[in-house]
Amino acid sequence: MRFAIGVDLGGTQLRAACVDEGGHIHTQRRVATSSAGPEAVIEQIIQVIDAVADSVCRDAICGIGVASPGPVDLRTGVARRAHTIAGWTDVPLRDILTERTAMHVIVQNDANAAALGEWHFGSGRGCDHLVYVTIGTGIGGGVITDRKLVLGRHGMATEIGHMTIQSDGALCGCGNHGCWEALASGSALAEVASKALAAGQPSMITQIAAGAPVSATHVARAAESADALALDLMRREGEWIGIGLTNLVHLFAPDRIALGGGVSRSMALLEPHIRREMAWRVMPPLRDTPVNVAQLGDDMGVLGAATLIFEQPALPMT
Ligand SMILES: [Zn+2]
Repeated sequence: MRFAIGVDLGGTQLRAACVDEGGHIHTQRRVATSSAGPEAVIEQIIQVIDAVADSVCRDAICGIGVASPGPVDLRTGVARRAHTIAGWTDVPLRDILTERTAMHVIVQNDANAAALGEWHFGSGRGCDHLVYVTIGTGIGGGVITDRKLVLGRHGMATEIGHMTIQSDGALCGCGNHGCWEALASGSALAEVASKALAAGQPSMITQIAAGAPVSATHVARAAESADALALDLMRREGEWIGIGLTNLVHLFAPDRIALGGGVSRSMALLEPHIRREMAWRVMPPLRDTPVNVAQLGDDMGVLGAATLIFEQPALPMT
């Protein structure tokens, strides 16, 4: 039996797991990600790797996959930047971990790693073509085409959250206007809800938030209780998601789409609106493309990272 260590590096939590080829997690460790800078975070990564590596014979471990937030230069293994981790800019993570652990290390952007994991172990099993979309604070994703991860120049392809959807739409964190992320992310949903409440629209969202900043979860909970404003916001959210997915279907003609991230937990509310939008926007031959909730859930990060070792995706040439 072969094993890989998957490391899910998040802004709030760092998690490592020892995973076998069947996708079973043997041991795992999680710690709160340090805010004391990259050196402290790297020490934490090495500690959690050591803790899980001892659970099996070290000779059976094929390598360490790391899912890192933000862009990663796949040629050099340098994590370029991650705004969720203090001081995390141009960290040569692959070389540092290779030297410190004496194991084979692959570092990849977290959304691409998740796409690989969902394809290998989740709802994409058996597909030749999968589009994975995560909708949470932002929108990210990864694409498997012809059983290969789409990488592009410097491995920076499929920044799907930054497709322009509305020419004069809301300002996005990337500086563009009307990006899919600026319209359909959980943060965008929360912001539109906050503006509606500030304008005096009555809603139980106010009571549910109970003085905390309004979140997408608050809106979803109000919609589940048939709150009129929340239902209208979820309808619009579903429509924006359907428009973005239509573009992805036309670009990649996937066998299926897997939706992950916090917003996908409200699929029962969103699905009718997503489907209604796609039913008339998608070209007829592709209209039957299934849209499923991703199966790996909370294990997505570590399983995706371990898949980097099992699948060994090719590196971009440029
Ligand atoms: Zn953008």
